[in-house]
Amino acid sequence: MPIMPKFLHCRDAGFDCDAVVTGATVDDILAQVRPHAAAVHGVDVDTTMERQLQTLIRDDPELGAASGTSGT
Ligand SMILES: [Zn+2]
Repeated sequence: MPIMPKFLHCRDAGFDCDAVVTGATVDDILAQVRPHAAAVHGVDVDTTMERQLQTLIRDDPELGAASGTSGT
């Protein structure tokens, strides 16, 4: 199973949504975000929004371990 080192929290994009999109590359994530945003949020991801989303994509090997943890 390939490692998916990048992820995007949908709520970071301003949606009240717990979806997390993971992918090997930014393009891979955007390819999944487009249909998600359209189907779930009724939002059409245009070029401007894509650029914004790209800034929200994180490289974090501890995917899923971030919630509720801070400091230390
Ligand atoms: Zn969402």
